[in-house]
Amino acid sequence: MLSVAEAQSKVLEQARPLPPRTVPLDAAAVGLVLAEDVVSDLDTPPYDKALMDGFAVQARDLAEGKTVLTIIEEIMAGQTPHKTVSAGQASRIMTGALIPTGADAVVIVERSQNLDGNRVRLEDRTKPGQNILPRGREMRKGESILRAGAVLRPQEFGLLSSVGRTAALLHPAPTVAILSTGDEVVEPSQVPGPGQIRNSNGPMLLGQVARAGGTPRYLGIARDRLEHLRPLVAEGLHADIFVLSGGVSAGQRDLVPDVLTELGVQAHFHKVAMKPGKPVFFGTKQQALIFGLPGNPVSSLVCFELFVRPAMRRLQGHTDPGPFLVEAILEEDFAYRSDRPTYHPAKLTCGSKGSRVRPVPWFGSADLRGLAAANAFVVFPAGEHQHAAGQAFSVLKVE
Ligand code: AMP
Ligand code: MG
Repeated sequence: MLSVAEAQSKVLEQARPLPPRTVPLDAAAVGLVLAEDVVSDLDTPPYDKALMDGFAVQARDLAEGKTVLTIIEEIMAGQTPHKTVSAGQASRIMTGALIPTGADAVVIVERSQNLDGNRVRLEDRTKPGQNILPRGREMRKGESILRAGAVLRPQEFGLLSSVGRTAALLHPAPTVAILSTGDEVVEPSQVPGPGQIRNSNGPMLLGQVARAGGTPRYLGIARDRLEHLRPLVAEGLHADIFVLSGGVSAGQRDLVPDVLTELGVQAHFHKVAMKPGKPVFFGTKQQALIFGLPGNPVSSLVCFELFVRPAMRRLQGHTDPGPFLVEAILEEDFAYRSDRPTYHPAKLTCGSKGSRVRPVPWFGSADLRGLAAANAFVVFPAGEHQHAAGQAFSVLKVE
């Protein structure tokens, strides 16, 4: 059986970044990945700029002991200075305003003393360049400011706006079709009859897809019958990624792998050495990636985080697909036995002394309530172990 790492690399081998599109830089573009190098269209700052409120002066005056200067002008941000600062003179200046010709330093207002409205005493031995950001210091016209591969966070939005960009070439968000399967599964709005359960996985996967930056498309619940599954599976295969829950185990009604193969999906793996989530299926049809996740909700959630989310990141053009595990110290002794590496729901806390993890009570792969008390999975190795407090473990954060 494949290990989790082997299965992940099989998924990533098949996942290619989606072809870039020109996308407006609005809220929907936050988190997308840039597919072009961006250059600045101007010098920033566009002029020598005052960094503080104060007085624009000739630094030499103060160095020579001249401390009382004549105020010749007041320059607000956005205004153009009209006067040249000569020896013995100062212009009152506001943060962000253009430095007048002649001046080479700004003395901050806190180090000044107003004499009679026309004159000011400056209590500072300033140096040339002090409190001035010279033109082009942040960036020069034509200089590359962001490279392809950069993730658009709000700060990149700000940077792109400062060079006049309102749209950019980006890898789009992948569309992810979601299909729940199972004769016993009913929608959450319904009261389950005998032997029925509500569809937890549909809404949960919807949330996971949204969190991972994808565009979810919920296709409903397919019954465990070929004629009902086929058309819904065919529809799901139009998405960039198709996630099915249930129907991938070895039971008589576990029809998902057969229907997928019948509709032209090439299987890459079916079963991974992990707990929960062992029956997980992965296949491709042309560019589409297809994941059959086991129906138990915790299995479905873990398999999404380990296999689907990294695939989504790759399609979005991220260079680091994850998943991102952190190391944490076990808070209390914990005896554990399993024939497979186990992702056990846990509470991770990150404090000044580092990361600590505590397994939460958990009743197996159907136990969503245990998950609600957790924010992570601690990875326990296969075998029979008396894990001791203080030992370090890998932890998968799920928030
Ligand atoms: P399966 O993978 O289809 O064999 O399902 C495994 C277990 O997960 C069964 O107990 C199912 O009833 C349950 N299950 C399947 N689909 C869902 C779902 N969408 N929501 C909650 N539980 C499910
Ligand atoms: Mg089923």
